[in-house]
Amino acid sequence: MSEPAQEQLKCNLWIKKPVVVEATQWFYFGDHPKVTEYTDMPNIRICKYCNRQMGTHGFIETLEGGHIVCHGDWIITGVQGEHYPCKPDIFEQTYEPAEPAPEQEAKPDRLAEAEELIDRLKTYGVVKGCVYVEDALSAIVQHLRERGE
Ligand SMILES: [Zn+2]
Repeated sequence: MSEPAQEQLKCNLWIKKPVVVEATQWFYFGDHPKVTEYTDMPNIRICKYCNRQMGTHGFIETLEGGHIVCHGDWIITGVQGEHYPCKPDIFEQTYEPAEPAPEQEAKPDRLAEAEELIDRLKTYGVVKGCVYVEDALSAIVQHLRERGE
């Protein structure tokens, strides 16, 4: 990395260089290997940040000392391997995914398939007894569509 030129050092406005960090949202013990149980305060005390009992909180060592971790805080691993917690609203304002979210596999439209099958049943002129089956299947599909499934 090169030193900024003297001219640049006079500048008052700077853009933070984009740095890729690793981050995990912490909810429960075991979510992050460095978050331990917070035991310094009675369990029944309520946290002023998240309104949960202190006994449900985690604790993490940072470069600036130990830090309480609230349910939902992000644990960021910095460029030197250091860890620090970050409130979810700040995290959202400051970070964005470094890679696109894995694409969701296209779910086959089972209802459309079922409707097509029912249509085919009708087209092939099924025997009279099957009319009830058609009606029943149509009703089921209709019901599921209305439920939004
Ligand atoms: Zn809290």
